[in-house]
Amino acid sequence: MFSKRIRNVQPSATVQLANKVKRLKKQGLDIISFTLGEPDFPTPKHIVDAAKDALDNGMTHYAQSNGMPELREAISDHIKPKNGIHADPEDIMIMPTKFALYAAIQTLISKGEQVIFQNPGWVSYGPMVTMANGTPVPVKMSYEDGWNWNPEDIRSHVTPRTRAIILNTPSNPTGSVIPEETLRAIGDLAEEKDLIIISDEVYENLVYDVEHFSIGSIDKIKDRVVTVSGFSKSYAMTGWRVGWMVGKKEIMRMVNKLQQHSITCLPPFIQMGAVAALKCGNQCILDMRDEFQQRRDLLIPLLNEIPGVSCEVPQGAFYAFFKMDLGFKSMDLAEMLLYKSHVALTPGSAFGSAGDEFMRMSYASSRENLIEGVKRIGDFVKSLEKGKEL
Ligand code: GLU
Repeated sequence: MFSKRIRNVQPSATVQLANKVKRLKKQGLDIISFTLGEPDFPTPKHIVDAAKDALDNGMTHYAQSNGMPELREAISDHIKPKNGIHADPEDIMIMPTKFALYAAIQTLISKGEQVIFQNPGWVSYGPMVTMANGTPVPVKMSYEDGWNWNPEDIRSHVTPRTRAIILNTPSNPTGSVIPEETLRAIGDLAEEKDLIIISDEVYENLVYDVEHFSIGSIDKIKDRVVTVSGFSKSYAMTGWRVGWMVGKKEIMRMVNKLQQHSITCLPPFIQMGAVAALKCGNQCILDMRDEFQQRRDLLIPLLNEIPGVSCEVPQGAFYAFFKMDLGFKSMDLAEMLLYKSHVALTPGSAFGSAGDEFMRMSYASSRENLIEGVKRIGDFVKSLEKGKEL
């Protein structure tokens, strides 16, 4: 009854788990959830007001399929100084960020072509490649090596069938930031082997102590790079579903066909909210970023106090990806923590084989929640130890 494409993929662990937590909370369970990567701040008021004004002014019909010129121009102006990417408005597509990744893969990957990405890496890259009839090739990084992605490891996985590399910096789930030097080496490899790079930079504004570098700013490879970013994480706009893709015009024209035959366009009032977000300067996102940094600095030492837990300080995004060395698989630990201790974490195995001893905890949650969540995890570990003694 169902296509092989859809039968071949599992549900999204992050989205499914968040749904489950919502259901359990509705049943009255006092669960603290650190599953979804979603800022807990409201969308800044001036953004909401701009969208409301647009609604009041009748912007409730179709917009251009590739995005409203106002927003594409604002993004073009924004990414020149910020990312070093010199793109005309015609080199930009307005899409939900996640859909942009899906669309890039659908547009660029043909049956049997291999796509390399980080392991551990975000839950949807593999399924997106599978749904394009491509072959996912997750390439491991290790905790011991600071979750650094080694260009030589990537090279050793390149075959004549390799078509693309997906990069995610800062990374979900590890929080690691790929240094410029490594990105340049990956760029050289892409040029040598004639590969495309799809660069997912949705956490680009959430970096702490280090600089974000966009691989699409490297002039000699810019035509083979598609950069995807968006408003969800930096501007607390997850529910708005708005982001962008930038790359050379020929690619954008092809992606636009996919948009026209699927979602048509993004709602114009949403796009006007996004214009307001870019026009307001950086202060609102810097305040949120600073708060995430302080939460990170609160959380990581607390986690490291729990016996069997170890966590390096993440440089970006808003996830603690910590090792839980208790002799259980991460999926089993997640179930036990949820049902026994009422704390919801995403099991590391959802992000690939290299994540199996790890748990992901989003710190886009209040300080009170983080403190209470760590207490519950600590009590759970103590209860296991007591159980062993009996
Ligand atoms: N990207 C976020 C996360 O990893 C939201 C859910 C999703 O799209 O996977 O939690």
